[in-house]
Amino acid sequence: MISPGSAIGVLGGGQLGRMLAHAATRMGYRLHVFEPQENCPAGEVASREFNFEYREVERLKEFARGCAAVTYEFENVPVKPLWEIEEIVPLRPHWEVLETCQNRAREKNWLQRHGFPVVPFAEVAAGEDLSQAIRKVGMPAVVKTADFGYDGKGQVKVRTPAEVAEAVKAFAGQRAVVERFIDFKCELSVIVARNPQGEIRTFPVAENIHTRHILDFSIVPARIDPAVQREAAELAVNIADAFGLVGLLAVELFLDSDGRLAVNEMAPRTHNSGHWTLDGCVTSQFEQQVRAIAGLPLGDTAMTVPAAVMVNILGNVWKGQGKEPIGSPNWSGLLSHPRAKLHLYGKSQPRAARKMGHFTLTGEDVATVFKSARALKTGLRSP
Ligand code: AMP
Repeated sequence: MISPGSAIGVLGGGQLGRMLAHAATRMGYRLHVFEPQENCPAGEVASREFNFEYREVERLKEFARGCAAVTYEFENVPVKPLWEIEEIVPLRPHWEVLETCQNRAREKNWLQRHGFPVVPFAEVAAGEDLSQAIRKVGMPAVVKTADFGYDGKGQVKVRTPAEVAEAVKAFAGQRAVVERFIDFKCELSVIVARNPQGEIRTFPVAENIHTRHILDFSIVPARIDPAVQREAAELAVNIADAFGLVGLLAVELFLDSDGRLAVNEMAPRTHNSGHWTLDGCVTSQFEQQVRAIAGLPLGDTAMTVPAAVMVNILGNVWKGQGKEPIGSPNWSGLLSHPRAKLHLYGKSQPRAARKMGHFTLTGEDVATVFKSARALKTGLRSP
């Protein structure tokens, strides 16, 4: 067990690292952050900040020597340099989990090999013919880059021969994955934690609404059959077990109109769809991450409220985006709501589609809370 007072290291200095720092420091741990860019959201609240490239192995080793355990909050950390710190400090989750989740083809193959449901897909090697994979999967299809894709970056939907030709051009020379386009009923996510002793807990299933591929709302409890929720949670537990996970893992799922679940993607870290746990759960996902990687018993994941809705606040709600933002959103409605909780990540430059913060609204029933949350979101843009 890694006791309070020790330092926990995190690779990546974004908002997930910042909220981890809040949770860790509250419990008496120190948080050290390793992040190439200066003035990062996590660095603002960390005890130590290392601003170097991930490939600077000597710097990474120095960072590792000062920590009792190291985790990550950013999925695209290169894996190779991590082999070097493995001998110095426990890396949790293990780099093999990270490597599996970094590449869509590897991730889907891993899931399939272990018997977990995935959307029908075909792999395309660099330089290989994309149109053949599209024929195999059938249209409409979604073409995604195999490496380092997130929030819809590097993906296109293809419905027509003309779009196939466009996709062939756009993805030329790249490794890709072609997926059947799923006319899903809804998107769900489950965050699961496992500690080194093998104790496992899941958070309540979140229902996620994306707008332009970016998470817009997380709604809890998910408005679906409780039996499907149990099934989703069971899937996440089995995935965590199959990985021998130590740490946190987010599993994103599609629920189709026949009531079937399929895993879309996984992230071995805290997740945007779990931010509501800060305000609606006995233990937040960030505290659970600390507990799991420090080898503490896991915290209770029961909700403290009947309903919670998390809303992302993107740079789009600032009037002037870019280097010289004009003014700020209209916070008055949100701040005057007695049950709305505002979280801002300390980012100085609001850009379109950049996650600047989020808010969580809690209440007695999910329909009312969702309606009020939408109204509060609209209010951010009011003059
Ligand atoms: P991803 O980057 O794979 O998480 O995709 C971002 C979002 O695009 C998902 O959350 C879905 O809303 C949508 N999407 C991705 N893949 C598919 C698919 N095969 N069928 C339908 N929608 C998809």
